[in-house]
Amino acid sequence: MKTAMRLGKKSLLAAVLGLLGLAIQPAAAEERAKDLFGAEKLPAATAAQSFGFYSKGCFAGGVAIPMDGPTWQVMRPSRNRRWGHPAMIALIEKLSRDAAADGWPGLLIGDISQPRGGPMMTGHASHQIGLDADVWLTPMPDRTMTRAQRESMSATLMVDEKTHLVKDALWTPQHTALLKRAASYAQVERILVNPGIKKKLCDTVKGDRGWLRKIRPFWGHDYHFHMRIGCQPGSPNCKAQEATPDDDGCGKPLAWWFTEEPWRPNKNPDAPKARDVMTMANLPKECRAVLEAPGPESAEAATYHGGAVPVAVAAPEPETPAPPAATASGGDLPGAANAFAATPRMGAPVPRPRPPAK
Ligand SMILES: [Zn+2]
Repeated sequence: MKTAMRLGKKSLLAAVLGLLGLAIQPAAAEERAKDLFGAEKLPAATAAQSFGFYSKGCFAGGVAIPMDGPTWQVMRPSRNRRWGHPAMIALIEKLSRDAAADGWPGLLIGDISQPRGGPMMTGHASHQIGLDADVWLTPMPDRTMTRAQRESMSATLMVDEKTHLVKDALWTPQHTALLKRAASYAQVERILVNPGIKKKLCDTVKGDRGWLRKIRPFWGHDYHFHMRIGCQPGSPNCKAQEATPDDDGCGKPLAWWFTEEPWRPNKNPDAPKARDVMTMANLPKECRAVLEAPGPESAEAATYHGGAVPVAVAAPEPETPAPPAATASGGDLPGAANAFAATPRMGAPVPRPRPPAK
């Protein structure tokens, strides 16, 4: 409504200026994308689709992960970055259950995406198309945290900033199991961790090491890991990333991180970051439509309660070929908690109760 009125005024202005023989600048194309996407509070309530690349794009049909689940809690809720492609949200919920079965107490969920993705006002070059998620390397406390606690609780720094090595007193086999579990999903293409964490895995993982291929060293990522899934069906304009090399990545490329070169001070520290200068003209053209699409009536209406919703969003069909068989990790959970259970299509938003927090 507002947009229509704005456009109306704009075209009126254009007409007046046209009569006066003046031209107006194509100002809309110059708007900083992060201001526009950062201001969106709700997703575009259309079919789920990612546009562009992880670090230059946006997405429609986003759903939110609930603030609490039996095996997760969302951190830093004031940022409103608990939105993702439905496949991403389903996978995070699944990881939380599988990890709990593996002995990890539950996930603390960091940033996923803004409701419609796009560049952010602060942090992150990527996380723009709903297919990236940060998960803390701090286990979930055995209580439901208050909003204030979720804003202020600090994460555990797992790596010594001088040596770039993992702090051995903090690393546990459960950390390794969590990363292995995340890497085990076919949809997950790469997991970014601090080079020290990659080295710890390279040095300690015995037996099956195939999954190490997906674990990629990167700056930061010393209190959380970053899970990235591939472009999803139904997103023809999603740009895939390069495949990771076939080997475990423990050789030369990792050794480079333990030289002085990657840690040299930035020669040009004041250079603007890409996300700060990106305009709408730099993003895929569909991102304009994503911004202008109507939203659901509330965040709750687009919250993904384990496969039975989202209700206000046209959800895609489940992407896995078949629901996983009941296992030790999932057998004791109600069917509705299975993120890969068939998602019924529902035309009208229906309020749903939140699952009880445990
Ligand atoms: Zn991240």
